[in-house]
Amino acid sequence: MKKLAAFILATAALCGCCCDGADDKPVLRPSEYVSTLVGTQSDYSFSTGNTYPAVALPWGMNFWTPQTGKMGDGWAYTYGSHTIRGFKQTHQPSPWINDYGQFSIMPVRGGAFDEESRQSWFSHQSEQAHPYFYSVYLADHDIRAEITPTERAAVMRFTFPESDESAVVVDAFDRGSGVRVIDDCTVAGFTTRNSGGVPENFANYFVVRFSKPFEGVECRLDGKNKTIGEGEEAVGGHALLKLHFNTKRGEPITVCTASSFISEEQAFRNLRETGDGDFDAVREAAQRRWDEVLGRIEVGGGTEEQYRTFYSCLYRATLFPRKLFEIDGEGKIVHYSPYNGEVCDGYMYTDTGFWDTFRSLFPLLNLVYPSENAKMQAGLANTYRESGFLPEWASPGHRGCMVGNNSASVVSDAIMCGVTPEEDVATLYEAMLSGRMKVHPEVSSTGRLGHEYYNTIGYVPCDAGINESVARSLEYAYDDWCIAQVAEKLGYDEDAKMLKAASDSYKNLFDVETKLMRGRKVNGEFQSPFSPYKWGDAYTEGNAWHYTWSVFHDVDGLAELMGGKEDFERMLDSVFVVPPIYDDSYYGFRIHEITEMQVADMGNYAHGNQPAQHMIYLYDWTDSPYKAQWWTREVMERLYRPKPDGYCGDEDNGQTSAWYVFSALGFYPVCPASDDYAVGSPLFRRATIHLENGREVKITARGNSPENRYIGSMRVDGKRRTEPFLHRSELLDGAEVKFEMQSQYKK
Ligand code: CA
Repeated sequence: MKKLAAFILATAALCGCCCDGADDKPVLRPSEYVSTLVGTQSDYSFSTGNTYPAVALPWGMNFWTPQTGKMGDGWAYTYGSHTIRGFKQTHQPSPWINDYGQFSIMPVRGGAFDEESRQSWFSHQSEQAHPYFYSVYLADHDIRAEITPTERAAVMRFTFPESDESAVVVDAFDRGSGVRVIDDCTVAGFTTRNSGGVPENFANYFVVRFSKPFEGVECRLDGKNKTIGEGEEAVGGHALLKLHFNTKRGEPITVCTASSFISEEQAFRNLRETGDGDFDAVREAAQRRWDEVLGRIEVGGGTEEQYRTFYSCLYRATLFPRKLFEIDGEGKIVHYSPYNGEVCDGYMYTDTGFWDTFRSLFPLLNLVYPSENAKMQAGLANTYRESGFLPEWASPGHRGCMVGNNSASVVSDAIMCGVTPEEDVATLYEAMLSGRMKVHPEVSSTGRLGHEYYNTIGYVPCDAGINESVARSLEYAYDDWCIAQVAEKLGYDEDAKMLKAASDSYKNLFDVETKLMRGRKVNGEFQSPFSPYKWGDAYTEGNAWHYTWSVFHDVDGLAELMGGKEDFERMLDSVFVVPPIYDDSYYGFRIHEITEMQVADMGNYAHGNQPAQHMIYLYDWTDSPYKAQWWTREVMERLYRPKPDGYCGDEDNGQTSAWYVFSALGFYPVCPASDDYAVGSPLFRRATIHLENGREVKITARGNSPENRYIGSMRVDGKRRTEPFLHRSELLDGAEVKFEMQSQYKK
């Protein structure tokens, strides 16, 4: 045995030096490289993604997930769990925000009914988790369960054993629900369960149709058995149905289910997405859709593991924000407004926090999926029309979470790219301008908390009862720069001048003594005592080492404040050099983001949270862009894996994944709403982006390997490029970017 092991090691080493483990086999169906389990090995104290295995179409209205956690638990599916309680329709963006409009379906046998009695042991060895298909063997019931999605519906196939005690439970969840028996193949129901951000009349109406008539019905309402017949309903706090079947061994029962935020009638309309309920046909269509979306970026000349990581990240980057619109009886696009409770015309998307996703998720959409973002932008204009504000954290309506006014970045970047529908540009511009001057009366993270201070003294002071004041101020300044770009484009020169001047206000918080951004009082004094290791307080889920770099729009200006390029580079270096010490006194406990920074072994660099994710690329503004090349590869290789513990912190609705997608391509949008991408180090030897305009961006990296991570030279359309920047406009024209990679860095 020993000899054999040595031989395998030697072969592996040999293979390692001749081909670097790179696999030139083409990626045929990118969907097959995705694992939806990446990030699921998370809990409250430590996040390796805080994701769940969403089986859904890209940006689909309804996702489904196997449910291991109890009803209401944000950790709906955790990799370490042993039992499944049901298959839940979910709209949850993150465990911290939790779910709304959820209900579940579970095949069972015998007396199992509520979520405790029906849970079944399962093993990851008998589980398949793809975006287009999820399958698991429920051992305690001897039933195989399979799910495949459409945008607003799903088909499930349950393969039963020989039993006269087979059944399917439909659980409408607690906090207000109802169920109804329509005929011997069809049931309906509704749930009003939510976690906030909904009007009074909110409900999710669902319908469930079986391929075989059920032979009996049991109903449980608020813990009590209730007799229910055809045409009857049970409405209360927590309603469940159990539909009974006699089954032969290996007999499949197909279940088609759909829902609507508008009405039961609309739910039946949405059920048509499942066609005649042919499971395999729906599954094939779902996989084709994923291949089409994921295949917009083709990669080659990497390892199998890198392909898996890349496409698992691209899957996460094309899930959120979700469609909240539906198609009515006349074929019109309509949506239930989570803002005013009415059914309104037009698009609506939700379940994203712009504090996270403005950074690189939306720039990715603008480059690769602009037609989808055009609809999202139309939805943002509708949000303003229906609520008077752009959203900052929507799920499904305005939610109080995080800081900033980064809707300005999301909206501006799309307008600057020409993605926004012409008819919505004026409304969105007005929305951005008005959002600078007000704050939502109930949701203080919507609009601009502290705008009165920011607009007069040039920063939100730390002693005015407004927390995280440095984070807010820096983001407002960048947001103003974004709006200025649009003002200029639209020819509003006065506005542009005013906004540009406002975007300089980041300078007001720079402390020359520490060379860091620091809280400041109304009277102009800096906050004292001050510790660059203190998380929270004037910052949001980070410290001064993380937030000082939030000057996306004027990196040269920031460098100048620090004393010039060399000092700026030294400050960047310091982030990695200072030990991962921390002060958590603001929170009173070590928040999971702190732990995630510590365990990464990169000093105070905190890739597990979003504020610093652009930081490495700032080396492109120094004389040492090679440090950006070295560190981006280090992060890609150490902090991303196609495994259940594959992320280094909360994935956060596509943002942490979009970082990887861009970085693997070799560039990153440090400043959304600008035309610039900062160059890092391409991961693959070949990558092609198939743009929606029919053109292609072809990226090659000759000689690329884990050692050859430095760029020797770069050519764009045959022309040598010495500055480490690419431009979105040149890529959108179709471009050929050729990198020559080497092991020695160049200064
Ligand atoms: Ca986060």
